[in-house]
Amino acid sequence: MSEDVEVLTPAEVVQAQLNKFKLSLDAEIPYRLATVFAKISGWGAKGEIKRRVKLIHQIEPTLKKMLLPKEEVLYVAKGTQSSTTEMLFMGTYWAAVLNQTVFVLTNLRILMLRSKSNGEPTHTFWVLYYSEIDLFQPNWMGALKLKTKDGKNVTFTGFPKLDRKAMPAIFQDALDNYRKLNFHPTVSQSRENLCSHCFQVVPKDRYVCRNCGSDFWTPKELALRSLIFPSWGDFCMKHYHFATVELIGYVISWWWAIRILTRAIPGEGWIAVGLIFIFAHPVDAILTYSVAKKGLSPRHGPDAARALAEQSADVDDVDDELLEAEEA
Ligand SMILES: [Zn+2]
Repeated sequence: MSEDVEVLTPAEVVQAQLNKFKLSLDAEIPYRLATVFAKISGWGAKGEIKRRVKLIHQIEPTLKKMLLPKEEVLYVAKGTQSSTTEMLFMGTYWAAVLNQTVFVLTNLRILMLRSKSNGEPTHTFWVLYYSEIDLFQPNWMGALKLKTKDGKNVTFTGFPKLDRKAMPAIFQDALDNYRKLNFHPTVSQSRENLCSHCFQVVPKDRYVCRNCGSDFWTPKELALRSLIFPSWGDFCMKHYHFATVELIGYVISWWWAIRILTRAIPGEGWIAVGLIFIFAHPVDAILTYSVAKKGLSPRHGPDAARALAEQSADVDDVDDELLEAEEA
């Protein structure tokens, strides 16, 4: 009698490991286990699996609302996406804190969820279709460089080494499948903003969701607030930690100016006051603008009337475009 040799598929091997460590993932989310867990054996595998599951658990409630029918999760990792302006004005530390982002590579697209440092999503989300990416590669400094179709260079940093190694290969597979399907979704910009409430795309330069009617602060509104009172715009964006630190710094600079005014030479005090208005206010406005420009900051929740108004605004835009096309 021959004995059946049980051959496990890669996904079953991962599942066996998860069972062994008494870990489980949400059964309603389709995960491709073999790619989600890039390392399942050898030194450090247990810690790595546990870390990954912990991160996935943070995003599962949100992810469930974001996924489309038949969309499968290929990989989940956390990194940061900071711009040079941010690193220059707020320092690498705060730029990294404010830009923690969980990346979810699916068979259809890359979802990005801005998060707290433990991976819990906050309120800013993006989608990037693979067809919008020209180049996706790790560089020698350990960053992932991404060049998009609309000519933007985005650099992601802060990924653990394992993720930097695993992500480009998964990305390449997804892209190859994409090319076979000839799937090129239309977009208003390569990295699209998603509504913080219903996760539908909110097109470029739009600040109302036409699906649910939620609205968002425009970068100008936020920058103006920071110009009037530093940290105001940051409070509106709900970056409370950063805004508080900024507020403390602002108060200290006034205390310093008033001290000089009352104690020593009033002339120097007035220079100090002038410096606050010349530097602190505009610098925070510029910084707020650059942070706000990157993604949506929710202002009011869903509203049916606002959604309808936004839909008719869309129709007007199309009418204008048609008119222009006819005149040309
Ligand atoms: Zn919405």
